[in-house]
Amino acid sequence: MTAPHTAIRVSEIFGPTIQGEGMLIGLPTVFVRTGGCDYRCSWCDSLYAVDSRFRHEWEMMSTDALWQKVVALSGGRPVMVSLSGGNPAVQPLGALLDRGHREGYRFALETQGSVARNWFAELDVLVLSPKPPSSEMATDWAAFDACVEAARGRPQIALKLVVFEDTDYAYARDAAARYPRLPVYLQPGNHTPPRPGDENAPIDMDGVMKRMEWLVEEVTRDRWFDARVLPQLHVLLWGNKRGV
Ligand code: SF4
Repeated sequence: MTAPHTAIRVSEIFGPTIQGEGMLIGLPTVFVRTGGCDYRCSWCDSLYAVDSRFRHEWEMMSTDALWQKVVALSGGRPVMVSLSGGNPAVQPLGALLDRGHREGYRFALETQGSVARNWFAELDVLVLSPKPPSSEMATDWAAFDACVEAARGRPQIALKLVVFEDTDYAYARDAAARYPRLPVYLQPGNHTPPRPGDENAPIDMDGVMKRMEWLVEEVTRDRWFDARVLPQLHVLLWGNKRGV
Protein backbone atom coordinates (compact mmCIF):
# COMPACT_ATOMS: atom_id res chain seq x y z
CA MET A 1 0.00 0.00 0.00
CA THR A 2 1.26 3.48 -0.86
CA ALA A 3 2.14 5.71 2.09
CA PRO A 4 -0.40 8.57 2.22
CA HIS A 5 2.24 11.30 2.20
CA THR A 6 3.77 10.07 -1.05
CA ALA A 7 0.57 9.11 -2.87
CA ILE A 8 -0.61 11.49 -5.58
CA ARG A 9 -4.32 12.15 -6.02
CA VAL A 10 -4.99 11.86 -9.74
CA SER A 11 -8.14 12.87 -11.60
CA GLU A 12 -6.98 11.85 -15.09
CA ILE A 13 -3.90 11.16 -17.20
CA PHE A 14 -4.18 11.53 -20.94
CA GLY A 15 -2.31 12.31 -24.10
CA PRO A 16 -0.22 12.87 -25.96
CA THR A 17 -2.18 15.77 -27.33
CA ILE A 18 -1.24 19.39 -27.84
CA GLN A 19 -1.03 21.97 -25.09
CA GLY A 20 -4.00 24.20 -25.71
CA GLU A 21 -2.99 27.42 -24.00
CA GLY A 22 -0.28 29.70 -22.72
CA MET A 23 3.43 29.74 -23.48
CA LEU A 24 3.60 26.09 -24.57
CA ILE A 25 0.60 26.25 -26.88
CA GLY A 26 0.74 23.67 -29.66
CA LEU A 27 3.44 21.55 -28.04
CA PRO A 28 2.78 17.78 -27.84
CA THR A 29 2.14 17.02 -24.20
CA VAL A 30 0.98 14.32 -21.80
CA PHE A 31 -1.35 15.69 -19.14
CA VAL A 32 -1.50 14.64 -15.51
CA ARG A 33 -4.49 16.27 -13.89
CA THR A 34 -4.46 15.99 -10.12
CA GLY A 35 -7.58 15.93 -7.99
CA GLY A 36 -8.44 18.58 -5.39
CA CYS A 37 -8.13 22.34 -5.28
CA ASP A 38 -8.00 24.95 -2.53
CA TYR A 39 -10.00 27.32 -4.79
CA ARG A 40 -13.50 27.10 -6.17
CA CYS A 41 -13.61 29.51 -9.11
CA SER A 42 -17.07 30.47 -10.32
CA TRP A 43 -16.23 29.49 -13.90
CA CYS A 44 -13.90 26.53 -13.26
CA ASP A 45 -13.68 24.40 -16.40
CA SER A 46 -12.41 21.29 -14.59
CA LEU A 47 -14.83 20.89 -11.70
CA TYR A 48 -14.51 17.14 -11.97
CA ALA A 49 -10.96 17.60 -10.64
CA VAL A 50 -12.01 20.06 -7.94
CA ASP A 51 -15.34 19.17 -6.44
CA SER A 52 -15.15 16.37 -3.87
CA ARG A 53 -18.42 14.99 -5.30
CA PHE A 54 -16.17 13.54 -8.02
CA ARG A 55 -13.73 12.05 -5.55
CA HIS A 56 -14.86 8.55 -6.54
CA GLU A 57 -13.29 9.20 -9.98
CA TRP A 58 -9.93 10.12 -8.45
CA GLU A 59 -7.19 7.62 -7.79
CA MET A 60 -4.41 7.67 -5.23
CA MET A 61 -1.34 6.66 -7.22
CA SER A 62 2.27 6.03 -6.28
CA THR A 63 4.91 7.98 -8.18
CA ASP A 64 5.93 4.75 -9.83
CA ALA A 65 2.43 3.81 -11.02
CA LEU A 66 1.80 7.33 -12.31
CA TRP A 67 5.11 7.36 -14.10
CA GLN A 68 4.50 4.00 -15.77
CA LYS A 69 1.28 5.42 -17.21
CA VAL A 70 3.03 8.52 -18.59
CA VAL A 71 5.73 6.37 -20.18
CA ALA A 72 3.12 4.06 -21.73
CA LEU A 73 1.19 7.00 -23.20
CA SER A 74 4.31 8.57 -24.66
CA GLY A 75 5.63 5.28 -25.99
CA GLY A 76 8.76 5.82 -23.92
CA ARG A 77 9.71 8.91 -25.97
CA PRO A 78 10.45 11.93 -23.74
CA VAL A 79 7.68 14.48 -24.04
CA MET A 80 6.51 17.54 -22.13
CA VAL A 81 4.41 16.51 -19.14
CA SER A 82 1.87 19.07 -17.97
CA LEU A 83 0.91 18.90 -14.31
CA SER A 84 -2.45 20.55 -13.88
CA GLY A 85 -5.54 20.18 -11.77
CA GLY A 86 -7.22 21.13 -9.58
CA ASN A 87 -4.19 22.61 -7.92
CA PRO A 88 -1.24 20.27 -8.52
CA ALA A 89 0.81 22.21 -5.97
CA VAL A 90 -1.09 20.49 -3.16
CA GLN A 91 0.21 17.09 -4.30
CA PRO A 92 3.66 15.56 -3.53
CA LEU A 93 5.20 15.77 -7.00
CA GLY A 94 8.90 16.23 -6.24
CA ALA A 95 9.80 12.53 -6.70
CA LEU A 96 7.92 12.45 -10.01
CA LEU A 97 10.06 15.32 -11.34
CA ASP A 98 13.26 13.47 -10.34
CA ARG A 99 12.07 10.29 -11.97
CA GLY A 100 11.00 11.91 -15.23
CA HIS A 101 14.07 14.09 -15.58
CA ARG A 102 16.31 11.04 -15.28
CA GLU A 103 14.55 9.72 -18.37
CA GLY A 104 14.74 12.96 -20.34
CA TYR A 105 11.17 14.20 -19.88
CA ARG A 106 10.29 17.83 -19.14
CA PHE A 107 7.65 19.15 -16.78
CA ALA A 108 5.38 22.18 -16.79
CA LEU A 109 3.11 22.91 -13.86
CA GLU A 110 0.19 25.30 -13.76
CA THR A 111 -1.13 26.65 -10.50
CA GLN A 112 -3.02 29.66 -9.22
CA GLY A 113 -0.08 30.47 -6.95
CA SER A 114 -1.68 29.85 -3.58
CA VAL A 115 0.67 27.11 -2.33
CA ALA A 116 4.48 27.23 -2.73
CA ARG A 117 6.61 24.10 -2.88
CA ASN A 118 10.39 23.68 -2.77
CA TRP A 119 10.19 21.40 -5.78
CA PHE A 120 8.97 24.26 -7.98
CA ALA A 121 12.70 24.85 -8.55
CA GLU A 122 12.94 21.44 -10.26
CA LEU A 123 10.28 22.26 -12.86
CA ASP A 124 11.14 23.22 -16.42
CA VAL A 125 8.18 25.58 -16.74
CA LEU A 126 6.05 27.14 -14.01
CA VAL A 127 2.85 28.79 -15.17
CA LEU A 128 1.33 31.00 -12.51
CA SER A 129 -2.30 31.79 -13.17
CA PRO A 130 -3.73 34.13 -10.54
CA LYS A 131 -7.49 34.23 -10.65
CA PRO A 132 -9.22 37.54 -11.50
CA PRO A 133 -12.26 39.02 -9.72
CA SER A 134 -14.83 37.20 -11.88
CA SER A 135 -13.60 33.93 -10.32
CA GLU A 136 -14.93 35.18 -6.96
CA MET A 137 -11.61 34.18 -5.41
CA ALA A 138 -9.24 36.59 -3.66
CA THR A 139 -5.53 36.48 -4.50
CA ASP A 140 -3.09 36.20 -1.59
CA TRP A 141 -0.16 38.05 -3.15
CA ALA A 142 2.20 37.04 -0.31
CA ALA A 143 1.51 33.37 -1.13
CA PHE A 144 1.96 34.17 -4.81
CA ASP A 145 5.31 35.85 -4.10
CA ALA A 146 6.33 32.71 -2.20
CA CYS A 147 5.63 30.64 -5.31
CA VAL A 148 7.87 32.87 -7.44
CA GLU A 149 10.59 32.69 -4.79
CA ALA A 150 10.28 28.89 -4.46
CA ALA A 151 11.20 28.57 -8.14
CA ARG A 152 14.57 30.19 -7.31
CA GLY A 153 14.89 31.47 -10.86
CA ARG A 154 15.34 28.01 -12.32
CA PRO A 155 12.27 27.14 -14.41
CA GLN A 156 10.87 29.45 -17.04
CA ILE A 157 8.00 31.27 -15.35
CA ALA A 158 5.04 32.86 -17.05
CA LEU A 159 1.91 34.65 -15.92
CA LYS A 160 -1.30 33.41 -17.48
CA LEU A 161 -4.44 35.40 -16.95
CA VAL A 162 -7.98 34.50 -17.90
CA VAL A 163 -10.05 37.58 -18.71
CA PHE A 164 -13.84 37.76 -18.81
CA GLU A 165 -14.56 41.44 -18.27
CA ASP A 166 -13.17 44.92 -17.52
CA THR A 167 -12.39 44.22 -13.88
CA ASP A 168 -10.44 41.10 -14.87
CA TYR A 169 -8.49 43.10 -17.43
CA ALA A 170 -7.60 45.72 -14.80
CA TYR A 171 -6.53 42.90 -12.48
CA ALA A 172 -4.36 41.43 -15.25
CA ARG A 173 -2.64 44.77 -15.74
CA ASP A 174 -2.01 45.02 -12.01
CA ALA A 175 -0.65 41.47 -11.82
CA ALA A 176 1.67 42.11 -14.78
CA ALA A 177 2.91 45.34 -13.17
CA ARG A 178 3.78 43.43 -9.99
CA TYR A 179 6.00 41.03 -11.93
CA PRO A 180 7.48 43.10 -14.75
CA ARG A 181 10.07 40.45 -15.62
CA LEU A 182 7.56 37.70 -16.26
CA PRO A 183 6.05 37.15 -19.71
CA VAL A 184 2.27 37.61 -19.74
CA TYR A 185 -0.26 35.48 -21.59
CA LEU A 186 -3.90 36.57 -21.70
CA GLN A 187 -6.77 34.38 -22.77
CA PRO A 188 -10.49 35.01 -23.08
CA GLY A 189 -12.53 33.09 -20.54
CA ASN A 190 -15.01 30.41 -21.54
CA HIS A 191 -18.34 31.42 -19.96
CA THR A 192 -19.90 28.11 -21.00
CA PRO A 193 -17.54 25.64 -19.26
CA PRO A 194 -18.34 21.93 -19.24
CA ARG A 195 -20.74 20.64 -16.65
CA PRO A 196 -19.17 17.56 -15.04
CA GLY A 197 -20.47 14.46 -16.74
CA ASP A 198 -21.73 16.43 -19.76
CA GLU A 199 -18.73 17.15 -21.94
CA ASN A 200 -20.98 17.58 -24.96
CA ALA A 201 -22.63 20.63 -23.41
CA PRO A 202 -22.67 23.32 -26.10
CA ILE A 203 -20.06 26.02 -25.99
CA ASP A 204 -20.82 29.62 -26.94
CA MET A 205 -17.95 29.88 -29.41
CA ASP A 206 -19.19 33.18 -30.85
CA GLY A 207 -19.21 34.66 -27.37
CA VAL A 208 -15.70 33.39 -26.64
CA MET A 209 -14.37 34.76 -29.93
CA LYS A 210 -16.04 38.14 -29.35
CA ARG A 211 -14.30 38.27 -25.99
CA MET A 212 -11.01 37.43 -27.72
CA GLU A 213 -11.54 40.32 -30.18
CA TRP A 214 -12.37 42.68 -27.33
CA LEU A 215 -9.24 41.59 -25.48
CA VAL A 216 -7.07 42.27 -28.53
CA GLU A 217 -8.65 45.73 -28.82
CA GLU A 218 -7.96 46.48 -25.15
CA VAL A 219 -4.33 45.39 -25.36
CA THR A 220 -3.60 47.32 -28.55
CA ARG A 221 -5.50 50.43 -27.37
CA ASP A 222 -3.42 50.43 -24.18
CA ARG A 223 -0.19 49.84 -26.09
CA TRP A 224 0.39 46.85 -23.86
CA PHE A 225 2.98 45.43 -26.18
CA ASP A 226 4.47 42.86 -23.79
CA ALA A 227 1.24 40.92 -23.45
CA ARG A 228 0.32 38.02 -25.70
CA VAL A 229 -3.33 37.26 -26.36
CA LEU A 230 -4.08 33.63 -27.14
CA PRO A 231 -7.22 31.56 -27.54
CA GLN A 232 -7.63 28.18 -25.88
CA LEU A 233 -6.72 26.01 -28.85
CA HIS A 234 -8.37 22.89 -27.43
CA VAL A 235 -11.63 24.82 -27.00
CA LEU A 236 -11.50 25.89 -30.65
CA LEU A 237 -10.79 22.34 -31.76
CA TRP A 238 -12.87 20.26 -29.39
CA GLY A 239 -15.19 22.54 -27.42
CA ASN A 240 -15.69 21.26 -23.88
CA LYS A 241 -14.58 17.69 -24.60
CA ARG A 242 -12.49 16.06 -21.89
CA GLY A 243 -9.22 14.16 -22.31
CA VAL A 244 -8.10 15.75 -25.59
S1 SF4 B 1 -7.89 27.28 -9.39
FE1 SF4 B 1 -8.22 26.28 -11.36
S2 SF4 B 1 -8.84 24.19 -10.86
FE2 SF4 B 1 -9.04 25.39 -8.97
S3 SF4 B 1 -11.20 26.02 -8.96
FE3 SF4 B 1 -10.02 27.67 -9.95
S4 SF4 B 1 -10.09 27.23 -12.17
FE4 SF4 B 1 -10.73 25.36 -11.06
